[in-house]
Amino acid sequence: MEDCIFCKILNKEIPTEFVYENEDLVAFNDIHPRANTHILIVPRKHIETIKDLKEDERDELLVGKMVLAARDIAKKKNLDGYNLVFNVGRSAGQIVFHIHLHLMSNG
Ligand code: 5GP
Ligand code: ZN
Repeated sequence: MEDCIFCKILNKEIPTEFVYENEDLVAFNDIHPRANTHILIVPRKHIETIKDLKEDERDELLVGKMVLAARDIAKKKNLDGYNLVFNVGRSAGQIVFHIHLHLMSNG
């Protein structure tokens, strides 16, 4: 997607260090961290919001993989407690319309 900032990060048009990546997704530090650790887990597939997920195995699996990636990153970083957040829609504070999972921790 041409004007999507996360697609530009995925395409390396905007250089960003990935803290984790696999064939389905990447993870990088949020540019405006709101916790000691604030990482975004971003699928390589452009999907605008959680509302746009399809009821098919591919999207179901993708969201599951996002949660498991967050868990694995938290484990590797020895985080005890953490919050996993999807902002869905502008009125809920979503500003980037390419789905992403916030992993935030102060522990
Ligand atoms: P949202 O509010 O859409 O759920 O979250 C988008 C997040 O992306 C925000 O926390 C914002 O700070 C982060 N963000 C926006 N642009 C960039 C960027 O260019 N690089 C990085 N690393 N994070 C970004
Ligand atoms: Zn995108």
